[in-house]
Amino acid sequence: MKKTLLLLILSPGLLLTAARAQDKKGAAAPPPAVDTTKKKPAGITDKVKSSRKIDGLFTMYQDTATGTLQLYVKKSQLGKEYIYQSFSLSGPNSLYLNQSMHRATAVFKIEKAFDKLEFSGVNTRFWYDANNPISKTAGVDKPEAVFLVEKTVAEDADGYLISADGLFISEKLDPVKPLLPPGIPPTAIFNLGNLNPAKSRYSNVRSFPHNSDIIVDLAYDNPAPYNNGTNDITDARYVRVRMQHSLIEMPQNDFHPRRDDPRVGYFSEQITDQTSISPVPYKDIIHRWYLKKKDPNAALSEPVEPIVYWIENTTPVEYRQTIIDAGLKWNEAFEKAGFRNAIQMKIMPDDADWDPADIRYNVIRWVSSAQPVYGAIGPSFVNPKTGQIIGADITIEWFSGSATPIYDELFRGFSANGNTLQFPGMNPQHEENCTLASELKSQLLTGMTVLDATGASANDIKEMHKQFLTYLIMHEMGHTLGLNHNMKASQMLSPTEINNTEITHKLGLIGSVMDYPAINIALDRSKQGDYYTTKAGPYDLWAIEYGYTPFNEGEEAAGLKTIVARSTDPQLVFGNDGDDMRSPGKAMDPRVNVNELTSDAIGYAEDRFKLVNQTMGKLVQKYSKDGQSYAELRSRYGTLLSQRYSMVAAVSRYIGGVQIDRSFPEQKSGVKPYTPVPLATQKRAMEVLNKYVFAPDAFDADAQVFAWLQPQRRGFNQNNSGDDFRATSTLLSIQTDAALSHILHSATLLRMTNSRLYGNQYSVATMMGDLQKGIFSADIATNVNVYRQNLQTYFVRQLVSIVNPQNQGVDDVSKAAALYTLKKIKTQLATAVSTNDETKAHRANLLFMIDKALEVK
Ligand SMILES: [Zn+2]
Repeated sequence: MKKTLLLLILSPGLLLTAARAQDKKGAAAPPPAVDTTKKKPAGITDKVKSSRKIDGLFTMYQDTATGTLQLYVKKSQLGKEYIYQSFSLSGPNSLYLNQSMHRATAVFKIEKAFDKLEFSGVNTRFWYDANNPISKTAGVDKPEAVFLVEKTVAEDADGYLISADGLFISEKLDPVKPLLPPGIPPTAIFNLGNLNPAKSRYSNVRSFPHNSDIIVDLAYDNPAPYNNGTNDITDARYVRVRMQHSLIEMPQNDFHPRRDDPRVGYFSEQITDQTSISPVPYKDIIHRWYLKKKDPNAALSEPVEPIVYWIENTTPVEYRQTIIDAGLKWNEAFEKAGFRNAIQMKIMPDDADWDPADIRYNVIRWVSSAQPVYGAIGPSFVNPKTGQIIGADITIEWFSGSATPIYDELFRGFSANGNTLQFPGMNPQHEENCTLASELKSQLLTGMTVLDATGASANDIKEMHKQFLTYLIMHEMGHTLGLNHNMKASQMLSPTEINNTEITHKLGLIGSVMDYPAINIALDRSKQGDYYTTKAGPYDLWAIEYGYTPFNEGEEAAGLKTIVARSTDPQLVFGNDGDDMRSPGKAMDPRVNVNELTSDAIGYAEDRFKLVNQTMGKLVQKYSKDGQSYAELRSRYGTLLSQRYSMVAAVSRYIGGVQIDRSFPEQKSGVKPYTPVPLATQKRAMEVLNKYVFAPDAFDADAQVFAWLQPQRRGFNQNNSGDDFRATSTLLSIQTDAALSHILHSATLLRMTNSRLYGNQYSVATMMGDLQKGIFSADIATNVNVYRQNLQTYFVRQLVSIVNPQNQGVDDVSKAAALYTLKKIKTQLATAVSTNDETKAHRANLLFMIDKALEVK
């Protein structure tokens, strides 16, 4: 009862609701203790003599001398379904084993087979109408997944005792280690080696009426590690990973699963109706909390159990109020769904007697990892059978010290994001790892650099940071409420509206806090509005209304239809990660993207290019500071480059883009599901790229800083081949990785041709001709600078590669266009004027490449 007393002192008014809060199921559970009063039948008594008893959902006995654990399974528990959820609590970040990673979710059951207990997973991906005789075939052709069979060591009238070590000191429930696909050398990643059960142990075992948590320290040995991992790995031969296994009772309540809708972005369970003859037999259900009105008849009522978030006591004191305020802002959305005070925010007392990893508490945690890989995560875990969210945590990565990523490191991080690895322990349906904080941080650093370099006050920068943190918390909390990303939301306002605080304070800057927007910085500094949106946007209010509005029996289908019918409102536009165009060649609607802003992302990017170029000129003076090296200058320069990179990526996606509309026929939106981007818009994107990215003078502003970009020497950390800044390759990658690799991607080219059949007016041949003009014409009559030499060579090499008959990945229309463009370049080069050797050499090389590609074989 100590906990209750603490709450009383902190906030007496909250006592009643707190006692009922969702994070406190079973709060009255007594602390684990040795039970000496209950009479145990012979057999079991013998086996648990030297053990302490841990009573709860599952009763366990831990030997006080050896630490081994035995599990008592009641006969009444056989055949029942339970939820399993694993968490990593501490381990190598590079393997996603860091604190609070929500890993495997499964439904399992225990059955008796002769003298053994069988543990098996339950397939929750199908639904059967019980009235249909086909439902009798429910188990057919869904192979049982028995993951453990354990011999019973004792038995009494009520149940069976087994050794639990094979279940928990093992990888049976959660495979822990990533799989290395064939062809990737084992040295490519840090490798844990093999589990050593003898060196592993139980760290904590706790059991409550509705859940049991078994926390284990798994020891891994790798006698010959070829990859020593990153700085966080103390000794690559010996690594301990702390994992939590949580066994959870199936919630017993009147929670109703809610159907998923493609127009609103919730995490979901994909379930197929096996008794339906519909061609789309989907019964997908969304993830949401169980909220029930205290007063079912009131339009607005407090929930019986609010959703309570605890701010971990490790949170920096100066940020706590901002986090509380940010969290409570979600209540505006819940009011649209009929709930008052649905969200409660509390601070974990310094002397709290509970562990933040206790699944009964939703905790906002902070970590400062050696190698941040995610930035921030806001995962939740659910009952896979109903979609009910049972618990959630948010972890914010504290980017420590001066480890500000410079451009090249930043993007190396992106490409190494685990694409080549598979993480079998992670639920593939829960792609809830959010890289928002790292994206947002890059945006924030740009904002800070621009403000700092243009002489803004410390208060202005503080305000920017506060808005950043508010946005970050609201975004991660949105995930824990069931919402996935809405990468289209940043399209809500026009460039003229975005700095109008009369609009933005009422509506927000963007439709949803679930986007990864560019930071809003006005090119004209006197016109600056808000940097980030700091309230739930129209889409967020609507999405919560969809997910949480309670309906009377029989009224839900019609009620949901009315709500979702509003999806054609421009303020409610939605597109999630599946549609976003962050990677070259991925997806098709340029409005669904990261790191851009406003309904005119091209015009906004143009302003940002100007802002970056203006700021370049201020860097050397501002960051040549007494008492420090030039490392900060290099880092600040890196943030401006990453800003340029993301704007180039956003603009390039309009070329060959096709807009998606997911409204249903009955909404009569007047918009077809697929509409090619208008020719004028595609041409405009091309012009902006030609002017700010491909032009000979595109990076002239950068020349002011190159001679100062010196990293700080630490030990012997200098690059073996010299630590000067690799300007040519780094800036080339803005032209190529951010733009051309998308425009010339086989998927983009093929779509340009296919969409010609339903409205696209920009052919591949015309587009390549426009690239040719942008990349060759401006300096055809003069010498060619090094940026343009690299760019022209890259372009010719890509065209040659497309033309190559061995290249089967590109369609023939595009091959023809590439050949035609090569010939045009050859003709154009014949008119070129070169006066220096460098240019003559460069053009000779181009002609050599083209002739080789065109020669008849
Ligand atoms: Zn996110």
